[in-house]
Amino acid sequence: MPLHVLDHPLAGHLLSGLRDKETPPDSFRQLARVLTSLLIIEATRGLSTMQANIETPIEPTTTRVLAQSLAVVPILRAGLGMLEPAVQLFPDVAVGYIGLERHEDTAIARSYYSKLPNLQGKYTLCLDPMLATGGSAAQAISLIKSHGAATVVMVCVVSAPEGLATLEAAHPEVLVVAAAKDRCLNDRKYIVPGLGDFGDRLYGTF
Ligand code: URA
Repeated sequence: MPLHVLDHPLAGHLLSGLRDKETPPDSFRQLARVLTSLLIIEATRGLSTMQANIETPIEPTTTRVLAQSLAVVPILRAGLGMLEPAVQLFPDVAVGYIGLERHEDTAIARSYYSKLPNLQGKYTLCLDPMLATGGSAAQAISLIKSHGAATVVMVCVVSAPEGLATLEAAHPEVLVVAAAKDRCLNDRKYIVPGLGDFGDRLYGTF
C-alpha cells in the first residue's frame, strides 16, 4: 500500500503537542487543525489541473488551476476535528459524513450514520485521525467507492501497522497520508505510543 508519512519539522512539532497528555482540548483542537492543513495539502497533490489564460496587472500569462472537484468524508466523531481545515483550503469542497463507532470490547466498527454527496469523478479524502485496526477506514472507503469516487486518499494523523495492513488488504490502491506510523496496537486496540482517544482529547470527554 502506498503510505506517505509527512516528513516536515512543523508536522513533527505539531504532532508532539498532540501526543502530550498535558495538552488541553482547546490547544489540541488548534494543533489538530494546523496539522490537518499540512496533511490535506500533501494528500491533494494528485488533483488534476488544467491550463488557464489570465491577465496579471502586467501582462497576459498562462497558469494552472484545479480541474477536479474535491470531496471530503470525515468519519464521525474524531474525523470532525479534521473537517474545518479542508473547508478552509477548498471552500467549494463537497462534504459527506460516515458514522462508525468501535465496540468497546471487540473494537469492531458499527455503522450508525451515512450521508454522502454524489462522489462521481471526485477526488475524495477520507478523514480519520487514528488508523488503528483499519476496520472503520476499510468500511468507510468501501462506502465512498460505492458512491463513485474517482480517487480515494485516506488522511490520518497517526497510523498503526495493523491498520495499514487491513487497509492494504481491502483497498490496495488507496494512498494513506499520515503524520506518523507508530509501533503497534495495545490490547485495547489503542495506538502505541499514539496520543490516546482522539475524540475524547478533541472534545474533553474523558
Ligand atoms: N482511536 C483513537 O482515538 N485512538 C487510538 O489510539 C485508536 C483509535
